[in-house]
Amino acid sequence: MNRVPFTALVDHVDHYEMKMTNMDQERWLRVRDRLRIEVGEDIYLSWFARMELDAVDLETIKLSVPTRFLKSWIQSHYAEKLLGCWQSEQPTTTRIELTVRSAAIRPLPPKIKLAEPVPPRAAKLNGYEPHGMVPPISTVHEGLGGSPLDPRLTFEAFVVGRSNTLAHAAALQVSRARRGDAVMFNPLYIHAGVGLGKTHLLQAVAWAGNVGPERKVLYLTAEKFMYGFVAALRAQTAIAFKEALRAIDVLVIDDLQFLQGKSTQAEFCHTLNALIDSGRQVVIASDRPPSDLESLDERMRSRLAGGLVVEMGVLGEELRLEILKSRVAAARLHHPGFDVPPSVLSFIAKAVTHNGRDLEGALNRLLAHSKLTSQPVTLEMAEREVRDLIRPQEPRRVKIEEIQRVVARQYNVSRADLLSSRRTANVVRPRQVAMYLAKTLTLRSLPEIGRRFGGRDHTTVLHAVRKIENLVNNDASLAEEIELLKRQLQE
Ligand code: ADP
Ligand code: MG
Repeated sequence: MNRVPFTALVDHVDHYEMKMTNMDQERWLRVRDRLRIEVGEDIYLSWFARMELDAVDLETIKLSVPTRFLKSWIQSHYAEKLLGCWQSEQPTTTRIELTVRSAAIRPLPPKIKLAEPVPPRAAKLNGYEPHGMVPPISTVHEGLGGSPLDPRLTFEAFVVGRSNTLAHAAALQVSRARRGDAVMFNPLYIHAGVGLGKTHLLQAVAWAGNVGPERKVLYLTAEKFMYGFVAALRAQTAIAFKEALRAIDVLVIDDLQFLQGKSTQAEFCHTLNALIDSGRQVVIASDRPPSDLESLDERMRSRLAGGLVVEMGVLGEELRLEILKSRVAAARLHHPGFDVPPSVLSFIAKAVTHNGRDLEGALNRLLAHSKLTSQPVTLEMAEREVRDLIRPQEPRRVKIEEIQRVVARQYNVSRADLLSSRRTANVVRPRQVAMYLAKTLTLRSLPEIGRRFGGRDHTTVLHAVRKIENLVNNDASLAEEIELLKRQLQE
C-alpha cells in the first residue's frame, strides 16, 4: 500500500473540518431521526429523504435538496420544525440555509458510455435517429430503445388553446432547458382524457429535446418500460438496464396508468427518484391525476404530485377549428388540390366531438373521398362522410371533488362535513348520495372512493351505494333529486 505523506493527510483533514466533522454528521443523523418521528415516515420519505447536510457552523446549518420545488415546500411547511430539530441537537443554531443542489448534473458512473452522434443521413426513422443521434441506451442494452416517435407530433403542429395553454407552456419550457439548467418542476405530470393531445405534447418534447447532442431524451410508453424491464430481467441485465435508464437527461413516460406489477412499479419508483435527485427531468402523461393512480403506493403518488401537475381539458370548438385548419394546411403540402371550404371546417368543428383522433379521422375521410372521386369537398359530402363520427355529447369526465362540491351545495352542508367523521343525519345522507354518485359517474374503485371521502373503508362506500340504490327504487322524490344532481354534474 502506498503511504500517504503525513502533511497531505493533515491538509485534507483540515480542509474537511472547515465544513463538517464526524460529530456534525452524527448530529445530522439524530436530527433526521427526530424529524422522522415528528412528521411521520411517509412525509419524511417524501420531503426529507433526499436532503443532505452540506456545512455546519455555530449558528448556520447548510442543507441541500435536489429540486426547487422540494426547497420551497420545505421552507413554507417545515422550516420551523427543521430549525427546532437542529436546536435540540445544537442549541446555538439560529438559521437554516437550504439550497438546491441539482443545478449541475452530477457525473454519471464511468461505466456508461454515451454513443457518439452519427451523421443524420445514416440514421433510420425510429426514435432518436432522425435527429442524428444513436439512442444512447441501445449501446448498453438493446431492449431499452425508445418507443417510436411520430414525425408529425411536434410543437409546431400543436395548436394552443384555452384548455392546453399551461400544459403546452410547461412542456415547451422543459424542452428548452439545457443541460445544467436548474429544473423548474419535476416531474411534469400531464393528465387528460383520450385524444386530447397528451402523446402529441410528450413526443414534441422528445423531438425538440433530441435536436442537440448535449441532451438525451428518452420517450417510453409505460408498456415499453415494463417490457424493457421484464426483458432485462430475463436476460439478467437488470443492472445495466437501470444504469442505462439513469444515464439520460429527460425521461418521458406516456400512459403511466398502464404501469402494472409490483416489481415494475418499484423499479419505476427508484428510477424516478434517482433521476429527479440527480437533476434530470421527468415528464409523465396519464389519463388521470396522480391521486387516482390506485395501484401505486401513497408515497409514489405524492412524489408524482410533487412537481407540476397539469390537466388538459376537452378541445373546445374554437380549438377544434384551429386544429382542423392546421391539418388541412399540412395535407395541402402533399395534396395541393385538397380544398376544404370554411363552412365544412366549421361544420366538422361543431359536430365532431372533443376527441382529437376523431377530428383527424374526419379529415382523412374527406381527403380520401376527394382523391378517389376527384370531386370538390362540399357540405353535403362532409355530412355524409363523417356521420358516424358525430356522436351525441360524450358524457363528461366527472371528478369526485366536483361531486362533493355539488352535493354539499345541494344539501347545504360543507365539503369538509362530507369528508368528516360526523354521523348526524343531515350529513350522513348527503355523504351517501355523494358516494353513490362517485360510484356511478366515475370509474373510480370503491377503495379509491373511500380514500377520497376522508379515508373511509371500501365497505362503507359499498354500504352507501347499496343504501341509495334501494332508496332510489322506493322513493320517487329522492330519485328525481339524484337525477337532477347527475344532470347538473354531467352537463
Ligand atoms: P392522447 O395521447 O391524449 O390520447 P393524442 O396526443 O394522441 O391524444 O392526440 C390525438 C390526436 O389529436 C392526434 O392526432 C393529435 O395530433 C391531435 N391533437 C390533440 N390535441 C392537439 C392540439 N392541441 N393541436 C394539434 N393536434 C392535436
Ligand atoms: Mg396517448
